[in-house]
Amino acid sequence: MQPYQAPGLRCPHCEAVHEVHTVLDATREAPQPGSLSICWKCRDIAVFAINAFGLVWLRKPSDAEQRMFDGHPQVRAALRSTIDAHTPVEAVRAHRRERRRR
Ligand SMILES: [Zn+2]
Repeated sequence: MQPYQAPGLRCPHCEAVHEVHTVLDATREAPQPGSLSICWKCRDIAVFAINAFGLVWLRKPSDAEQRMFDGHPQVRAALRSTIDAHTPVEAVRAHRRERRRR
């Protein structure tokens, strides 16, 4: 699976620039509107947004989305993998191992 490249994307929480994303959903090559992103720097969750012209950005989740993410086992597992890992690649590998176990 090729990494998804999006030059200039910034975390809406800490402003870190994230130009390369690993897409964990094997059925997709690129994030869809509403897909989640976990920031490697601040470990917070952002949501992909795409406008009619194909412009992609990351936004903060709404309160309702955040409550849904907080209670979602897969999101919690992805956050745990990210927090425990020393590098982004390690986090992705740990998360994939976790998904295969389920
Ligand atoms: Zn961040």
